[in-house]
Amino acid sequence: MNSSFRQPVRGMRDFLPNEAEKLRFIENTARRLAELYGYDEVITPIIEHYDLLAAKIGEENRKRMYVFEDLGGRKVALRPEFTASIARLVSTKLLSVPKPIKLFSVGSLYRYDEPQMGRYREFWQANYELVGSNRPEADAEVLGLTCDFLETLGIKGYTIKVNHVGILRGILGCEGILEEGQNAIMQLLDDKEWDKALRLAREYGASSKCLETLERIFGIRGERREVIMKIMIETVEDYPKALDSISNLDEIISFVEDSGLDAKFYFEAGFARGLEYYTGIIFEAYVPELGIAIGGGGRYDKLIELFSGVEVPAVGVALGMDRIMLAMEKQGISPSRAPDYKVLVVPVEESIISKALKISFALRRSGIKTEMEVMRRGLSRSLSDASKKGITHVVIVGRKEIGEGKVVLRNMRDKVQEEVSIEELSSKIKH
Ligand code: AMP
Repeated sequence: MNSSFRQPVRGMRDFLPNEAEKLRFIENTARRLAELYGYDEVITPIIEHYDLLAAKIGEENRKRMYVFEDLGGRKVALRPEFTASIARLVSTKLLSVPKPIKLFSVGSLYRYDEPQMGRYREFWQANYELVGSNRPEADAEVLGLTCDFLETLGIKGYTIKVNHVGILRGILGCEGILEEGQNAIMQLLDDKEWDKALRLAREYGASSKCLETLERIFGIRGERREVIMKIMIETVEDYPKALDSISNLDEIISFVEDSGLDAKFYFEAGFARGLEYYTGIIFEAYVPELGIAIGGGGRYDKLIELFSGVEVPAVGVALGMDRIMLAMEKQGISPSRAPDYKVLVVPVEESIISKALKISFALRRSGIKTEMEVMRRGLSRSLSDASKKGITHVVIVGRKEIGEGKVVLRNMRDKVQEEVSIEELSSKIKH
């Protein structure tokens, strides 16, 4: 018999308790930040119509979708991202809600990527979408939220790589290259295939002046905003739409810099992203320890219109929780928790099991994590397993003590035990 089912399907993975704890810690941090910034959580389905997901996701991502026909003959797919679902939701159910609409989602996504460190076929994102504003302060807030999230988790030395798709589209559009051709060129840039992108632009009829401009653009990168902006402006001076985009990018980044956030930006004028729906700023977050992005986002002003016919600008960010978990491990950051008590209740004989159960339920109701000895192990075996499991207190329920309304409370750290009345038990454990 084929034993391949003993391993998860390629690209999928199990989270053991300590890993699940880290993932949930990141999720909880993301959720707390959503509350602080006024984002409401929405839960959308993992399975969506293929046509919705495929509409603007870009050729590469489209090829990597898990697509199948359901038993009703519908062509459906596992979601490879949240944004399409959010755009559908806004278009169909939230159009009349006062703007801005701020939505938070967290969950698993599916892409048939080539598995390697930090790249899985099932992965997790915390996703924030700010819908209804085309103003640069909206972009600045989403960038700020991204930095805030990484800082709250204790991630050090991160950089945000930024660009504006309007710069490249502004140049290519001037040459009469249509959106489809622009998308194909941007896709190559997403893969850092600069030469192939130039060749394709030539095939689409770009003039030699345009090719020269593009080549110079691809080489512009650096950290200092004012310097980079100046070079970019000089390079695209004959392309008015590209100039507008540079000024928009400059305004957004100035807002973030002036707000006192300690974000480090890296400008890269030839940087593109695979998703086709972006219309404005695009960005990705990196840490020195990982060569792959831990989050990414940007502005998409035309996607919701595609589904609703109504122009609704939006900007968002998706943070890759699996990669953030890796970054935290590499930087030696572990989830920080408040001091915690974990209790094990052990009845020393069969006749008082129900009394021990009663005590366990009462302890949990007073907010203490409590396990009950359900294997009928002897006391010494229970105690030795309890230390291995990080139990801080053992409540020993014996017949004699129970008769007097008491139990024995053993502190597993200092190995001291004392008789405690049942009424006082939870306050004794907490203090
Ligand atoms: P994207 O939706 O492509 O902008 O991705 C946003 C973030 O999701 C990336 O920056 C990664 O952190 C994460 N991500 C994307 N694809 C994968 C994958 N195959 N495995 C793990 N994380 C991923």
